[in-house]
Amino acid sequence: MAFYCEYCGKEEKELRVLLNGYCSKSPSKKHKAYDGNNTNPFLCKHCGKKEQELRVLVNGYCSKSSSKKHEPL
Ligand SMILES: [Zn+2]
Ligand SMILES: [Zn+2]
Repeated sequence: MAFYCEYCGKEEKELRVLLNGYCSKSPSKKHKAYDGNNTNPFLCKHCGKKEQELRVLVNGYCSKSSSKKHEPL
């Protein structure tokens, strides 16, 4: 079991460690725990793109999202 950041896709084994880290992609500068389906594959809720790694998904360009980033479902 691992925890992922919804903004940058960082993976940590411990939620506490994730939440205490700095996130350059988050508006609050903190990682935010992703609480959706955290098993592979990850899907973009805007365009349906599938990636095996959340980090890869959230760093890609999404033409259907208002933020131009894929967002996990
Ligand atoms: Zn993050
Ligand atoms: Zn997308």
